[in-house]
Amino acid sequence: MEINGFRGRLITADHADYDTARAVWNGAVDRHPRLIARCGGTADAAAAVRFARGHGLETAVRGGGHNVAGTAVCDDGIVIDLSEMRAVLVDPAARTAQVQGGALWGDVDHETQAHGLATTGGIVGHTGVAGLTLGGGIGFLMRKYGLTVDNLLAAEVVTADGSIVRASRDEHPDLFWALRGGGGNFGVVTTFRFALHPVGPTVLAGPVFWSAEDTTDVLRFYRDFAAEAPDELGTVVRLGTVPPLPVIPGELHWRPAIAVACCYAGAVEAGERAVRELRRFGTPLVDLVSPTPYAAFQGGLDDTVLHGWHYYWKATDLTGLSDAAIAVIADHAYAARSPRSYAALFHMGGAVARAPHDSTAYAGRDVAHNIVIDGVWLPEESGEHAAGETAWARRFLQALQSHRAGSVYVNFLDSDDDTSRVREAYGDHTYRRLAEVKAKYDPDNAFHHNKNIRPG
Ligand code: FAD
Repeated sequence: MEINGFRGRLITADHADYDTARAVWNGAVDRHPRLIARCGGTADAAAAVRFARGHGLETAVRGGGHNVAGTAVCDDGIVIDLSEMRAVLVDPAARTAQVQGGALWGDVDHETQAHGLATTGGIVGHTGVAGLTLGGGIGFLMRKYGLTVDNLLAAEVVTADGSIVRASRDEHPDLFWALRGGGGNFGVVTTFRFALHPVGPTVLAGPVFWSAEDTTDVLRFYRDFAAEAPDELGTVVRLGTVPPLPVIPGELHWRPAIAVACCYAGAVEAGERAVRELRRFGTPLVDLVSPTPYAAFQGGLDDTVLHGWHYYWKATDLTGLSDAAIAVIADHAYAARSPRSYAALFHMGGAVARAPHDSTAYAGRDVAHNIVIDGVWLPEESGEHAAGETAWARRFLQALQSHRAGSVYVNFLDSDDDTSRVREAYGDHTYRRLAEVKAKYDPDNAFHHNKNIRPG
């Protein structure tokens, strides 16, 4: 098979690399595309889009391949695969980075930190830049520097007709608005340009763990602590078991526990002051907060969510951490049967909430906390485990019903019963506006293997 004007690698079912090339982060996803087009650059992506349109092929677009729903790969059609386009070019004087559409956050942190710079990215290094950015982008730096999309300055996009356009505040501003939250609906983004900020390279960061029995007390304390926290302090709460990482004493491994992971985007001494009360609360099992290279901290969770394990997620934005919501969380968080399953609460607010709400297509700016419930099991544990972890995640979400804010982070939506929640992710007003931009740039909905916005 050949694609006119394409110089990358074409991988079909008879190719030795086919099975690795079609695998995504979530090992429960098992799809068989007819063709994987590994692009070397923008011209290849444009050739692949034209080929797909010309042949009426189902089309999936792959950045980091991390989306839990596995939308980066489709059955029978073509995967426009950017995973070999991972270059990151930093301009330290302008404080910007040019990032290719297949880069991972570990690539970005590595290159930007060489200059003492960073931008808001995901909390796991092997997550893709493209999918995360296009959905909004939440992470430890967001309260100080905004969402990832608040730092996006421009994007190069191959649109559904195969043309290459630039989107920024001044060029195709409607497309630029939609790309900042509207997901992969509007074309293949081959390059992103981000604003960078001075961060570290050494920051005060790390988790404090308490025993699961202390969950209610810790969360009640945390609610008030987080509400008063300076913008520099980003925190994520993880409820599950202590991951078996070498930095954690072996006797604690797999013990049910609640952790508050902290990262202070400012001077280490100021960070010490900001987290002092948290570290003094109750009786921690272990306190790993210390001056740490930011890039190393960002990679600290990588081995707790490995490629190829099986995953099922449920998520929602929360109205707050009321005592009643905390009771539900404490009741359900440790009821999974797999020790790898966990739930995570992200603390939003700060710069995220202060940005004008219609400045981008990200819809959950007024929410202080969201939760993602992550069922995890090993490939050899399929069957009963799959059903058990899936049921746990669903029950947990159901129990949170009266604490749901009515919105959800689009990048945390899974497949099956979550596909109908795309409107919930955006709300009616933003969804309608996205649908209008979709109608202009992709009227035939060629890019629909995603959290789909229908042209309207
Ligand atoms: P892929 O699976 O490659 O793609 C997902 C979809 O994005 C595709 O179907 C396509 O529609 C679109 N897409 C991908 N690349 C392109 C492109 N170049 N051009 C156009 N469209 C494209 N999110 C956060 O915000 N913060 C976090 O801290 C965070 N942590 C996570 C941790 C883990 C372990 C995981 C699995 C996910 C996490 N996420 C987080 C969610 C993450 O944002 C999504 O999974 C996101 O889709 C990952 O991007 P990707 O490029 O790897 O996705």
